[in-house]
Amino acid sequence: MSGALRQLGLMLYVVDRNSTTFETQQEVPKYLNEAIPTFTLLLLLEFVVLFVAGHGRVRMGDVLTSSGHGLLYDISKLVVHYGELSLYQWLYQYRVLDLDWRSVGTWWMAALFIDLAYYWYHRAVHEVNLGWAAHQVHHSSQDYNLSTALRQSVFQHFFALPAYTPLALLGIPLPAIIVHIQLNLLYQFWIHTELVGTLGPLEWVFNTPSHHRVHHGANKWCLDRNYGGVLIIWDRLFGTFEAERRNQPGQEIAYGLVGQPQTYNTLYLQLFYYQAVFTKAFSMSTWGDLFRALFYGPGWTPGNPRLGDPTTFPDVKAPRPLYGPEVPLWQQVYATTHYFICLILQQILVTNSQVLSWDVMVCHLAFIVVTLGVIGGLYDRRWWWVGLDWIRCITFLAYWTHVVVSVIPWPLLDSLVASLMVASVLLQTSRAITHLWTSLTTHKKIIKRD
Ligand SMILES: [Zn+2]
Ligand SMILES: [Zn+2]
Repeated sequence: MSGALRQLGLMLYVVDRNSTTFETQQEVPKYLNEAIPTFTLLLLLEFVVLFVAGHGRVRMGDVLTSSGHGLLYDISKLVVHYGELSLYQWLYQYRVLDLDWRSVGTWWMAALFIDLAYYWYHRAVHEVNLGWAAHQVHHSSQDYNLSTALRQSVFQHFFALPAYTPLALLGIPLPAIIVHIQLNLLYQFWIHTELVGTLGPLEWVFNTPSHHRVHHGANKWCLDRNYGGVLIIWDRLFGTFEAERRNQPGQEIAYGLVGQPQTYNTLYLQLFYYQAVFTKAFSMSTWGDLFRALFYGPGWTPGNPRLGDPTTFPDVKAPRPLYGPEVPLWQQVYATTHYFICLILQQILVTNSQVLSWDVMVCHLAFIVVTLGVIGGLYDRRWWWVGLDWIRCITFLAYWTHVVVSVIPWPLLDSLVASLMVASVLLQTSRAITHLWTSLTTHKKIIKRD
C-alpha cells in the first residue's frame, strides 16, 4: 500500500525531499521504469471508468501503438543517457556555483530550472522543423488518454541536450538533474486524460489535463500553445498560454497532427516526418531557404515569418474521422497478449542492461521491434502481418531452444511464453493452410464454371 502511495506521490511530484536526494548518479532510481506497473494499472482503471461512464471503449490499436513507443523510448534511454551524462559531467567542472547536493535550495533549484529548461526544450522541438520531426510522435494519436503519455520519440533525447546541459554550468549536481528530469516526465503522465475537467485555482500555476488537452489539439487555436511540463506559469510569462474552450460550440478539440498519418506502424511513426523535412529542405531554391526549412518552424514557407503564416494553416475542426480499420476481437486479444510478452522482454533488457551481453540485448530489441511491427501490421490490416508473425514466433522458439540460460529468468513465465509462441505458430500455420485451401477450391470452382 505504501509502495502504491509512493508511486502516486512520484507521479504528482509530491515527494519527500530526503528520499529524492542522492550523492551519486548510480544511486538514483529508474523512476520511469519502476512506474511501468503503475502506468499499466492506471491505464486499465481509466479504460474501465471511461466504459462505465458511457464514453465508449478505448481503441486498442491506438493504445498498443502508444505503449509500443513507450517501450522503445525506455530502451533508447540506455544508450542516449550515457552520452548526455558524460557531456553534463564534463561541463559541470566549469560551474559558476558550488551547490551542496544535500541542501534544500539545490533540490528546489533543480526542480524549478529543470521545469524552465523543459519549457524551452519543448518549445524548441515545436518551433524547429528537425525537432518537430522527432516530437510529432507524441502528438500523433487521435485519442487522448493516459496511454498517449507513453507515446514518446526515441530521437527526441538529442534535442534535450542543449536545454539541460547549461544547468551544469549553474552548478546543479548531476544526480539532482537525473531525479528531476524523471519526476517532471512522471508528472506529465496523469495530465493525459479527458476524465479530469478543470482544477480551479491550480489551473493558474500547474500544467493540468485541461491545459495539456489544448497542447494536443490540431485545431488552429491550439497549435504551439501550452508547452509547460509541471508549471504553466512559463506559458503565461512567455506568451504561449491558451485556455481550453470548454462548452463552446465549434471549439471542441481534434486531437492529433494537422496532417494525420493513417497508420499504427510504430517505426513509421517514429521516422516518417524526417523524410518530409528533408524533402522540403531539398526542394528549396537557395541555401538559406534550405537551412530555414530545417531550422524554422514546420509551418514555415519561403518569404514568411519564422513560424509561418497562420492564415495559410488548415483549420482543423472536431469531429474529424478517426483512423482505425475494424479488427476482430480475437486478433485484438492476440495483439495485446504479444504486447505483454514484449513488455516482459523489455523489462528484462532495461533492468539487466549492466549484465546482459550486447548480442542478447540486440536479440531482445529486434524481437520487440518486430513484434511492434506485427501489431501495427495487424491493426493496419496489412497482408504481410501473418507471415511476419509466423517468422517472428519460429525465430523466438529457435532462440529459446538454443540459449543456455532461459530467456525469461522465471521458469513458469518462461514456459508460458514459449507455449504461447508454439500456439501462435500453430494458429498462423493453420490460418495459412485454410487460406490456401479456400483460394484453391475457389479457383477450381471458377475453372469448372468456365
Ligand atoms: Zn508537444
Ligand atoms: Zn502530451
